[in-house]
Amino acid sequence: MGGTGVIGDMAETTQVRDGDSEALATLHRVFGYDAFRGEQEAIVEHVIAGGDAVVLMPTGGGKSLCYQIPSLVRPGTGIVVSPLIALMQDQVDALRALGVRAGFMNSTQDFDERRVVEAEYLAGELDLLYLAPERLRLDSTLDLLSRGKISLFAIDEAHCVSQWGHDFRPDYLALSLLGERWPDVPRLALTATATDATHREITERLNMPAARHFVASFDRPNIQYRIVPKSDPKKQLLSFLREEHPGDAGIVYCLSRNSVEKTAEFLSRNGVEAVPYHAGLDAGTRAAHQSRFLREEGLVVVATIAFGMGIDKPDVRFVAHLDLPKSVEGYYQETGRAGRDGLPSTAWMAYGLNDVVQQRKLIQLGEGDEAFRRRAQSHLDAMLALCETARCRRGQLLAYFGQDPDGAGCGNCDTCLTPPETWDGTVAAQKVLSTVVRLKRERGQKFGAGQIIDILLGKRTAKVIQFDHDQLSVFGIGEELTEGEWRGAVRQLLAQGLLAVEGEYGTLVLTETSGEVLRREREVPLRKEPKKAAAARPAGGGRGERKAKAAAAELPAELVPAFEALRAWRAEQAREQGVPAYVIFHDATLREIVTVWPTSVGQLGGISGVGEKKLATYGEGVVEVLAGLEGPAAAAPSAPDPATGPGTGTASRSDADDWPEHEPEPEPEDWI
Ligand code: ADP
Ligand code: ZN
Repeated sequence: MGGTGVIGDMAETTQVRDGDSEALATLHRVFGYDAFRGEQEAIVEHVIAGGDAVVLMPTGGGKSLCYQIPSLVRPGTGIVVSPLIALMQDQVDALRALGVRAGFMNSTQDFDERRVVEAEYLAGELDLLYLAPERLRLDSTLDLLSRGKISLFAIDEAHCVSQWGHDFRPDYLALSLLGERWPDVPRLALTATATDATHREITERLNMPAARHFVASFDRPNIQYRIVPKSDPKKQLLSFLREEHPGDAGIVYCLSRNSVEKTAEFLSRNGVEAVPYHAGLDAGTRAAHQSRFLREEGLVVVATIAFGMGIDKPDVRFVAHLDLPKSVEGYYQETGRAGRDGLPSTAWMAYGLNDVVQQRKLIQLGEGDEAFRRRAQSHLDAMLALCETARCRRGQLLAYFGQDPDGAGCGNCDTCLTPPETWDGTVAAQKVLSTVVRLKRERGQKFGAGQIIDILLGKRTAKVIQFDHDQLSVFGIGEELTEGEWRGAVRQLLAQGLLAVEGEYGTLVLTETSGEVLRREREVPLRKEPKKAAAARPAGGGRGERKAKAAAAELPAELVPAFEALRAWRAEQAREQGVPAYVIFHDATLREIVTVWPTSVGQLGGISGVGEKKLATYGEGVVEVLAGLEGPAAAAPSAPDPATGPGTGTASRSDADDWPEHEPEPEPEDWI
């Protein structure tokens, strides 16, 4: 034996057990689910038969079952490698609530706790064991694992092995040794990052040449994608939350610690309960905030990208970005944290000229060699293309991940719901570019976007007068557009590569292609800037119609009290056991319960998400709660009531009128 090729062959030769039906039986019995989703069944079968697998599935796609079921079916313990130490306790608690014998070993445990887990593993009493990669590579851990029986290795967040990816962790590189040391144990690498480059790197670096590859659809149809022009981001965010997500749990991403703190404070002051999360907070505060997010309903976490990986809270209703993410990969992972339960959710982003200028500047001034810079630049270009597209956002995202989008548009993104108008911006582009040229040629000067726009608008600001810019022939040639429209034009020229940013002060300079515009060899179509905030919100309709409270959405009105009663009961159970509410039952399960209205524990057992252990633990409790309520008026629940439809947006719509026209300059320390 030896060599990884052997593992692949085993898929053909190991057919001792009827893994298929055992897998399905386990899915019913333990998880209470009716059927596998998409590729899950093929993956589970393949791994149970001893094969290696590389699994690419979007966040919320159902990756965990792909290794949990084989770990339950195959003899021995499934070793799950995960970088997420802070979440291991919750993951294990959730599994134990399902009756799965799960454990973890990490630095949060004391010696005695670890000894207990070690003993359980050696005695074959664990179905699943969670470990961080830095622990796994220790000789002592490898020795321990050798003394027990391993059913499989699951390498979660496998993109962390990719050096050029957005989340590299050096300890992942050592995982290639698993295949050499345990050639007979199947390995699964799982990730929600789907570009070809990452995919290739995972396969190579984890040394899995014989693995079968499973690439699921990356579409997340329940997430509505929207990108709005940034004017006063905090206020825009507040309107978005008040109008569309009152009382909902969600994540707000900012680039800097400073803006995380300020935004959390601002939201809290304005009646939206929010806590900050970033690497500058001490570990205890971070853990406490994360734990509150998982346990409480309707808390907002404002965070840098340090937050959220592996968080499996199913009812995150929105993910908002106040700053431009550095790559489409990062954006898609972050937004993917919304709506794991399949209910309507929103991915909302405010994006403006300063984002483009600052990000370009960061890349130029940042560390790393030329190749690194080029890579960062192309990541950013793809992100900008997504922001500026007039096509379906979902289509663009799926195409980025190499998947064929539906040509007709998704009907659930801002560009599908409110198609943007385009206009011929060739002349406007020429005006911007010739102002840049004049300053450079005639005076050897370079200025940022603000000064260029002031010159075009013919504004005699102190800085314009100081440099005699009112004497230029281009002074005041752009009065046909508003300041906001000029900012939009400059932003789009930057995104299209017709203009570039240089140096510490973000001055504007021409690119190789600028000449084509100046020589009238190239037309420049531009997107129209929405005039008001309200325009940023789609008119509604389509399958993405918003609900004020997605959790109760589409429930007939007469069932809502029962749903709320069950939620209250669930909250009490969760408090008593010190686990997040969703560990007891998901919202989706509670909704099905009130729709079916079981009058016996037996009837409850048929509901999706109610497995054997949960039925035994909570069955009587649930039936009791329902028995104490008035049942549904008629046996058959009525159709959804349109009156419970989209949330009222009228109250705070008028906020839009208060918006300052200017995009505020970011504080310098805001861009670290
Ligand atoms: P991922 O790890 O890919 O982000 P999860 O494994 O956390 O996704 O699954 C996302 C959600 O979908 C979870 O709430 C999970 O319970 C649910 N789920 C996964 N597979 C199924 C299935 N076959 N039937 C019903 N629900 C499922
Ligand atoms: Zn669309």
